[in-house]
Amino acid sequence: MIQAQKGTKDILPDEVATWQKMENAACKVFSLANFQEIRTPIFEATELFARGVGDSTDIVNKEMYTFEKSERSLTLRPENTAGVVRAFIEHGFSRLPQPVKLWYKGPMFRYERPQAGRQRQFHQVGVEMFGAAEPSADAEVINLAVKFLNELGLNDLEIEINSLGCPECRKKYRNAIKEVLKPYLKDLCEDCNFRYEKNPLRILDCKVDSCKKIFEKEDIQKVILGDFICDDCKSHFESVKEYLSVLNIPYKVNKLLVRGLDYYNRTVFEIKSNNLGSQNAVCGGGRYDSLVETLGGAPTPAVGWAMGMERLYSLIEKSESKKSDVFVVSENISETFKIVDEIREQGLSVDFDYAGRKFKKQIEKASKTAKYALILMEDELKTNTVTLKNLETSQQINVPRNSYLEKIV
Ligand code: ATP
Ligand code: MG
Repeated sequence: MIQAQKGTKDILPDEVATWQKMENAACKVFSLANFQEIRTPIFEATELFARGVGDSTDIVNKEMYTFEKSERSLTLRPENTAGVVRAFIEHGFSRLPQPVKLWYKGPMFRYERPQAGRQRQFHQVGVEMFGAAEPSADAEVINLAVKFLNELGLNDLEIEINSLGCPECRKKYRNAIKEVLKPYLKDLCEDCNFRYEKNPLRILDCKVDSCKKIFEKEDIQKVILGDFICDDCKSHFESVKEYLSVLNIPYKVNKLLVRGLDYYNRTVFEIKSNNLGSQNAVCGGGRYDSLVETLGGAPTPAVGWAMGMERLYSLIEKSESKKSDVFVVSENISETFKIVDEIREQGLSVDFDYAGRKFKKQIEKASKTAKYALILMEDELKTNTVTLKNLETSQQINVPRNSYLEKIV
């Protein structure tokens, strides 16, 4: 038997109500801040991710689903920022009034070891804001993440932020980190040794316990806690923090937070939940002022985040799948079709028995799946009436055929 592939999952009908709840909350919260949805293709040129996510990242090095077609190398998107930036450039969005505020949702693909909270096809929802370098933009997108989570009833969250500074600050920091880590290289994992050459800051992001232990050493801590960011970056970061306080958003500064992707500068942040076990990050984001230019556009500051929807799903209270408003109980399919259309036109959901089975069977089905049974048997047809049964209270009334709707709504 052919089964769903490892690391992929069917989202079953009784789970879909909760997914729709997430999608509707996203649409509501982001629209209120005037962010508009964008939908980009599931696959893109491999080069987009190599350049846009960065060739020193795990995503590009180990996790991409890449295939050849007509001598082109294509990749299933592992994240959506690169695709959104490509679209921003391709459609000349830099000519629109700035900032341009976008959000997206949809499936992403990463070849990782599947485990709780980690799949190979998973879903993200995210926002991106282009053309605003000010710290208010950073605070606005963090605020949106929090508002979205609150809309879903999630409040028990930890927000960590850090500033990586500008390229100048990063260079200083990178050199200092390289210097202090040099004697420990043989004790760090293989990935960290690779990162040491390619992108040493990313070493701090390592999840391997023996590496994390090493970072606790005094000489390394001194560098980590040291002051590498320039005055401009410092005051930017201070303002972000002030705005978060104004917004009543609690946060912690985590100097180890560097984020997995290569393109971040200045503000980076993560939102974690204490109820998720080891895959506890629900949201990651930051500022990426150089990415639009890196991908061939005009220099455009940008800031955004992405959230893992499977992890959100496991945190939120499940919505029950809904009963339909009405179930038409009748043995006359033609009459049923007529009345079903009438009811649907009023915006009420209606179901009926396609096989026209015996009355008892139909009423049984109705009481399990609907709020009202609308009975249209021989008696009713003869008198041009319908019998309306409230399936919660079992009360029933017989009313003229043309006046049943007002009894339901
Ligand atoms: P992690 O450190 O957990 O691998 P990441 O830094 O790779 O996360 P991002 O690329 O920042 O994650 O993606 C943002 C969010 O997407 C994560 O915080 C997480 O909630 C979710 N996410 C990432 N990878 C997966 C996956 N394989 N399965 C499910 N959710 C994921
Ligand atoms: Mg990852």
